[in-house]
Amino acid sequence: MQKTTVVVIGGGATGVGILRDLCMRGVDAILLEQQDLAYGTSSRYHGLLHSGGRYAVKDAEAGKECIEENTILRKIGRHCVEQTEGFFARTHLDDEAFEGKWVEACAKVGIPTIPISVEEALRLEPNLSPKIKSVYRVPDAAIDGFRMVWQNVASARKYGGRVLTYTTVIGIEQSNNQVVGIKVRNTLTGEVSNIACDFIVSAAGSWAGEIAALAGINVNVQPDRGTLIAFNHRITSRIVNRLRPASDGDIFVPHGSITILGTTSASVNKPDDTVPNAKEVVELLNIGEALFEDIRSYRMLRAFAGTRPLYSADPNATGRGASRGFVTLDHAHDGLKGFVSVVGGKFTTYRLMAEKVTDLVCGYLNVKTPCRTAVENLVEDTSPALMAKARLYFPAYGAELAASRLGSEGLEKVIARIQEKPEKRQLLCECENVTMAEVEEAAADSTSYMISDVRRKTRMGMGTCQGAFCTFRSVGAVDANGLSWGKDTNVLFKEFLQGRWKGIRPILWGNVMREMELTRGIYEGTLNINGAIDNEGI
Ligand SMILES: Cc1cc2nc3c(=O)[nH]c(=O)nc-3n(C[C@H](O)[C@H](O)[C@H](O)COP(=O)(O)OP(=O)(O)OC[C@H]3O[C@@H](n4cnc5c(N)ncnc54)[C@H](O)[C@@H]3O)c2cc1C
Repeated sequence: MQKTTVVVIGGGATGVGILRDLCMRGVDAILLEQQDLAYGTSSRYHGLLHSGGRYAVKDAEAGKECIEENTILRKIGRHCVEQTEGFFARTHLDDEAFEGKWVEACAKVGIPTIPISVEEALRLEPNLSPKIKSVYRVPDAAIDGFRMVWQNVASARKYGGRVLTYTTVIGIEQSNNQVVGIKVRNTLTGEVSNIACDFIVSAAGSWAGEIAALAGINVNVQPDRGTLIAFNHRITSRIVNRLRPASDGDIFVPHGSITILGTTSASVNKPDDTVPNAKEVVELLNIGEALFEDIRSYRMLRAFAGTRPLYSADPNATGRGASRGFVTLDHAHDGLKGFVSVVGGKFTTYRLMAEKVTDLVCGYLNVKTPCRTAVENLVEDTSPALMAKARLYFPAYGAELAASRLGSEGLEKVIARIQEKPEKRQLLCECENVTMAEVEEAAADSTSYMISDVRRKTRMGMGTCQGAFCTFRSVGAVDANGLSWGKDTNVLFKEFLQGRWKGIRPILWGNVMREMELTRGIYEGTLNINGAIDNEGI
């Protein structure tokens, strides 16, 4: 039986942040995730590193936390953050009276808001609607959730942290009102086993209520579903928020070569109710038009959805009525020692949430080492010598991208693969500039079991072609490398393409349909992955 001091449940931003913090303070810890890292809300979100402007009026505390964490994450996680800055733009449909209240509220919590003329805003962002009435600059930024989660894990591992993916928690073992271990099921094989531990931290986001219920404890988390659209263009270079009380379809966030628009908000029963639908897409387009009039002429890539882990001590507060702040619940107060849940919050505040929980756990464990996560970078910067070496093997743009995705250590490993076999420098994913060597490195990690896991680590399959070309190439690479999980190529194809299809189906018109037919032609017509040709006896 495995043993550890602390088990952390949940491989989203909060869980990996806690793992990193514990390990940096010298506490032995294992993180368990039922699927892959960032499978939950931490990859199904806008990717906005909030300045806090969105919360300043209604929830000053959340606004203050955001601006403080925004400043920290720009520094320690600079390879995950694109410092785009943000606009708050009031459209012709929005209440003028709110503007003054918003400026005042931001000033109170320390969020800088710089007014600029509409002419200047249109010069900087020519796609903005010329009907907008006023614009302010704020220190918003774009943050890559996959990369942030992955780099936290890389850092935690350096301090001895262990991570088990595809491991579902199914029981909390207790003796004399004290946690003694955890029961898990291997999500892929169904095998059940136990891990002995002294402490459990639940960072299970929208699933936190389900985890607490395993110990007979009630934690009121109401999953609140939000749908977003990814456009195949950088419609805007800056984040654009609508200057009105937080509502649907208010935020555009540029990421790399795409832009994300969101979001809707609706209470749902299940944390993984994440299949977007066409009605939500049309609603978002209708609302988004107020900020970008030409929205319908931009090509959509896909839609996706996540659930917000909204916590409320009041079971009647739901949706935008519930706070965006977070709470740490010490279940010693519910009669079970050694069990803590952390719920609510935002991606932007994950590090702070982790710090508070780790302080609490370390108090119990009598560990005095202070938190260093606000000052130590997640991954080491790549040295000029290593960058020069990388440029021998990657095109200049690709070298920068690979360095920021992989960090110094990861980049060295990928370069070593290319040095050994130069043909591995070829791109498997042209849209996102991912080489065969990087795909192989991600596929060989102990947390990878399917092509989607490689996608989340590298971004392959997330660009314009949505897997049309890189799926067969990456399946081929995994198969050729003899990885144990790469034997049944038909299963690999289907899992990956099905995941892409889920986001494409709700936007299936115009160019998206043409692209989909090409993909279908490749996989059904040429590779016959659905077996239709055999069935018809052709
Ligand atoms: C549509 C939308 C847009 C958003 N936009 C933003 C934004 O722009 N900026 C921002 O700061 N915040 C945003 N948020 C909020 C933010 O995304 C979340 O607050 C944050 O990602 C939650 O992270 P987490 O680690 O707590 O939860 P998660 O990322 O959901 O992680 C919890 C993990 O626990 C795992 N788990 C559950 N049950 C078990 C089990 N039994 N065993 C093992 N593992 C288990 C799950 O698989 C999951 O991976 C948005 C949220 C939504 C829904």
